[in-house]
Amino acid sequence: MSDTASKSHGRKSITASLKPRSLMDGPERLARAWSAQVITLLPDAFPGILGHSLTGKALKDGLWQLDAIDLRQFGIGKHRNVDDTPAGGGAGMVLRADVMGRALDHALPRAPKGAPLVYLSPRGTPFTQAMARDWATRPGVTMICGRFEGLDQRVIDHYDIQEVSLGDFVLTGGDLAAQAMIDATVRLLPGVLGNESSTEEESFSDGLLEHPQYTRPAEWQGRKIPDVLMSGHHGEIAKWRRAMSEETTKGRRPDLWANFPKRND
Ligand code: SAH
Repeated sequence: MSDTASKSHGRKSITASLKPRSLMDGPERLARAWSAQVITLLPDAFPGILGHSLTGKALKDGLWQLDAIDLRQFGIGKHRNVDDTPAGGGAGMVLRADVMGRALDHALPRAPKGAPLVYLSPRGTPFTQAMARDWATRPGVTMICGRFEGLDQRVIDHYDIQEVSLGDFVLTGGDLAAQAMIDATVRLLPGVLGNESSTEEESFSDGLLEHPQYTRPAEWQGRKIPDVLMSGHHGEIAKWRRAMSEETTKGRRPDLWANFPKRND
């Protein structure tokens, strides 16, 4: 392995510890933190946006940790090649099974037990808030970022990798998708958002989109904040928000609306 193999990004220790939380500091505290491993050709793109704002603060505080694993170090020959032309012909390049296999054999033993193994792919199951909620209850996640035309199917089959899509569009690589999904998951970890209730009432949490939000000034460009929100009447405000939430969901997302009553039976 090249000398970059030992380089890690954010990881301090993966040793499990049974010591009470109060006795934990530094590496041992981090050993219990939610842990994302990301195999990528662009390790320098991490933590990227995740290093900012609430996710960045939580990363610094050790509420979660990130290990960006450079796929290049598992490449072949002097140039550390990671890709080759598609079998059967056609445009572009495909990430090689043997190269990704070596990367996974390096990553998987370091992943916490019970962490899902995910390949970011437009062919995958669409990512949802429910998935983020599930991943937040696991000890972490291991992610593979594709590039070029994608990844040799045999790796996906051999390691029984779950394919997850950020949406019905094609990105140049999985890195943005990985960061988006990690962001959605990390903000659900205990202690990451200041106000716990803010994840209970937001979009998707109860199968509905959120009501619209307003703040000062009370009037802007001739537009006023709806009177009910200024009334101080909590019951009426809750009723209005609920009605707006249902109306918005019905109008914008008939697919969500169709599932909504069933779930609340
Ligand atoms: N040829 C592929 C697209 C490859 S895009 C196809 O048509 O299905 C290159 C890489 O970007 C993919 O391997 C994947 O890791 C990532 N990617 C692209 N779109 C994505 C999406 N919607 N969700 C998650 N990952 C995506």
